[in-house]
Amino acid sequence: MSEMSLKKFDLHSHTCCSDGGLTPQALIQRAVQYGINVLAITDHDTVAGLPMAQQYIDDHQLSIQLIPGVEISTVWANQEIHLVGLQVDAHDPLLIERLDTQLAKRQARAHAIAARLKRVGIDDAYLHVASLAQGAAISRSHFAQYLINIGKVKDFSAAFKRYLGRGQCGYVPSQWVALPTAIEWIHQAGGLAVLAHPSRYGLTTKWLKRLLTDFAQGGGDAMEVAMCQQTPKERTLLGQYAQQFNLLCSVGSDFHFPSQWRELGKNLYLSERYLPVWHNWTI
Ligand code: AMP
Ligand code: MN
Ligand code: MN
Ligand code: MN
Repeated sequence: MSEMSLKKFDLHSHTCCSDGGLTPQALIQRAVQYGINVLAITDHDTVAGLPMAQQYIDDHQLSIQLIPGVEISTVWANQEIHLVGLQVDAHDPLLIERLDTQLAKRQARAHAIAARLKRVGIDDAYLHVASLAQGAAISRSHFAQYLINIGKVKDFSAAFKRYLGRGQCGYVPSQWVALPTAIEWIHQAGGLAVLAHPSRYGLTTKWLKRLLTDFAQGGGDAMEVAMCQQTPKERTLLGQYAQQFNLLCSVGSDFHFPSQWRELGKNLYLSERYLPVWHNWTI
């Protein structure tokens, strides 16, 4: 067994620079605590947390390796599809400029969601979510937290089901970047484009295969195969799709904050049958 395969990877995680609960420093601390050797921070539409995380690693001489990443919201066939970019240059001015266009869309959408919530009697949501986000890119998760705080729903899942999910009273579609364009953004910033959580879009097999076809044809490099909350059967199926569509395999918890369901590195086993996205990285 090669040394690389003994390392523990988690290539999808969030900080409070988007909708995660921990600071970049606290996330690194937790990753070390959970025995992660290689961690990608992949905040929604921003690379702002990466320099802070790297600085923390350097200051404390930690042996963990940080992979600079980002998770870009895209539109494909009228669906919101997330792409993770791994090994992107977080200082690339063009990437930052491009991500800023997404952040502007987030901002406009936040105002529009607040206006919709006002129609159902929930006032001042914008001010409250902006205060929860503390300058970070506003996400629907911040709205979900606000709805919990004011007692409208009991948890995140109910907030999406009743207010924020597609077709609900607080849902506002956003014109995110088109999927093939986002692949280009990631490539031009030196990164690998990874299709995030393919099983979480509620697509039928036919549509998922269409998505994988378009993603692969558009130059997509990899897809997430191993996630925390997943049956072995689903993982095997995704691994088979990766082989079928000639995509490398990635693993990621999509950690946002400590919870019993999702944890850094939890249950991210990838069979040696599959070629991992890190197969040719120098780590
Ligand atoms: P946004 O990128 O602002 O549209 O928000 C999407 C984020 O909300 C995702 O990244 C998740 O963190 C969270 N999310 C989406 N759907 C759900 C759900 N059903 N339950 C809990 N959190 C969700
Ligand atoms: Mn999120
Ligand atoms: Mn996502
Ligand atoms: Mn994510």
